[in-house]
Amino acid sequence: MPFSKFFTFSIFDMRISLIHLAQQSVQKVLLPGDYAIDATMGNGHDTLFLARIVGEQGKIFAFDIQSNALELTHARLKKNLISAPVSLNLCSHGKLLQCIPTSYIGKIKAIMFNLGYLPGSDKSIKTIPEETVKALSEALVLLSTTGCISIVVYTGHPGGLEEANAVRNWLGKVSEEKFEREITILSGRCNPPELIVISPRPERR
Ligand code: SAM
Repeated sequence: MPFSKFFTFSIFDMRISLIHLAQQSVQKVLLPGDYAIDATMGNGHDTLFLARIVGEQGKIFAFDIQSNALELTHARLKKNLISAPVSLNLCSHGKLLQCIPTSYIGKIKAIMFNLGYLPGSDKSIKTIPEETVKALSEALVLLSTTGCISIVVYTGHPGGLEEANAVRNWLGKVSEEKFEREITILSGRCNPPELIVISPRPERR
């Protein structure tokens, strides 16, 4: 029977970072030699995290629409002596299928979305519902049957709630027969962020 798992954590009870929880979910499926996507490169923390796991035999595709995100990420990878092949794309994640060779379709083990704006940068440059939803649909096409997609959604900034609603609406249309989902909400504050992790059901593998 298809079902969704819901978790709520109170930030008054424990110091939980949804970004850390997203990385933990990815860590369960991603192995050396795998392929992965950072759909929102930003400061490059997730790109570095993914590159460290997949190593020299793997491959990372990272996306952002801001050139300073590419510069920051490039510097972070260099500083950490990353040898994994990482492709930094100055391109919207709404064009995942255009930018990633078709030979990778169905072979990407982890796809990370950390929505919103780049901390410390221009807050008006942020992920937007139409592009996010298009990217999520394309991510499902690229995803391996043993992989997962993590999405951290913020509702506190202008446009954040609309984007969160668009993601929820999109998720409602994703087959529960084919994909399981875990939703974690940080309760205990206004406009709590959410983590959604989507993975193909084991019986579909
Ligand atoms: N994951 C990043 C990290 O580890 O530092 C943080 C990501 S930050 C919250 C969101 C990023 O999404 C910003 O850098 C922003 O420029 C980027 N972004 C906004 N719209 C985008 C789009 N259509 N395609 C790809 N990236 C986008």
